[in-house]
Amino acid sequence: MAKLSIKDLDLKDKTVFIRTDFNVPLNDSNQITSDKRIRASLPTIQYAIEHCAAVIVASHLGRPKGKPTPNLTLAPVAARLSELLGKAVPLAPDCTGLEVARVKPRPGEVLLLENLRFHPEEEANDPDFSKQLASLADIYINDAFGAAHRAHASTVGMISYVPLAAAGLLMDRELEWLGRVTRNPDRPCVALLGGAKVSDKIGVIQNLLTVVDKLLVGGAMAYTFLRAKNEPTGRSLIEEDKIDLARKILASAGAKLVLPSDHIVASELKPGASSEAVTRIGPDRIAVDIGPQTIEQYAQIIRGAKTVIWNGPMGVFEMPPFDKGTVELAKAVAESGAISVIGGGDSEKAIKAAGVSDKITHVSTGGGASLEFLSGLELPGVAALTDKTANSA
Ligand code: AMP
Repeated sequence: MAKLSIKDLDLKDKTVFIRTDFNVPLNDSNQITSDKRIRASLPTIQYAIEHCAAVIVASHLGRPKGKPTPNLTLAPVAARLSELLGKAVPLAPDCTGLEVARVKPRPGEVLLLENLRFHPEEEANDPDFSKQLASLADIYINDAFGAAHRAHASTVGMISYVPLAAAGLLMDRELEWLGRVTRNPDRPCVALLGGAKVSDKIGVIQNLLTVVDKLLVGGAMAYTFLRAKNEPTGRSLIEEDKIDLARKILASAGAKLVLPSDHIVASELKPGASSEAVTRIGPDRIAVDIGPQTIEQYAQIIRGAKTVIWNGPMGVFEMPPFDKGTVELAKAVAESGAISVIGGGDSEKAIKAAGVSDKITHVSTGGGASLEFLSGLELPGVAALTDKTANSA
């Protein structure tokens, strides 16, 4: 069911509570090392300001374990948000209570609440805490796709106590693209899955096999599958306890699931280790990347695709030259002209390294949330939002 969007609502003179994912990386001096997450929700905040709403922004930051923790204050975020918006963004001393009520913004103004996770009730999805958060707002907006797989007070609980709960512009975009490629993809639709473990992506593999025309597997994950086919894998990273499951997946997937036919192998997993391309992995070798033949085969399938869904690197890409498979396939995704949706994290770094970021349709801002979405699970933070039909009159 489609969810109400901020664009469907009249925000004028309303107090709008925007849940963002401003869980930014900080260095030892408490400086923000990447403001990407703040920029990602800027359009939603600007939209609310332009439509004359009084804006309250809330987020978690790090893991303060339910206690006020000075180095996890949102003060650096307030300062950066203020610079990006070009207007004052005061930081409330807390996220609930009388002091917050006293500093409530007026239409056109923005207030940032202090770290939601300074209260244990946030992660416990406590009803009283949820009510207190809800009492601040006329309208609730969730723009925190990265936190939508968590049922916390600010992502789910408070929605029961506000009249309207809608998706922000970032959340809208995430749901639109992830929804489109998994529900109604242009075909051929190809998934490219890599990374360390089969166990992290079982749900994604099983669900995508019901959606895509081809599922190309790379990364260490491929070696658990090759072992399940009784192929030699040397000292490559394997999940012994997932071999049986891998065998069952292979049997049901048939020709849809494609495994690497050659590999880059090294004698040890360290920078500068000598390596070579092989089709058969020797007993003392570790496979660290897909080989040239596989790169060509996968690139050709990707170039013929109309939709590409990509999650996880094809090799130990943080250790060049073992990034070659990942970077070459990033280029193939860009060249394909397909609708491309990328799961963020390592795959995002790869498209940057390949210099093709501007050719990708959508890079998800939520690692865990996008994996749950691709697994076909309903995200609690999305399910809780108001259905579009219920209010679109
Ligand atoms: P994930 O978080 O599951 O997407 O996994 C990413 C990690 O998988 C990266 O740190 C890669 O170095 C690692 N990885 C990918 N391929 C291999 C491989 N062949 N052997 C060991 N680690 C790998």
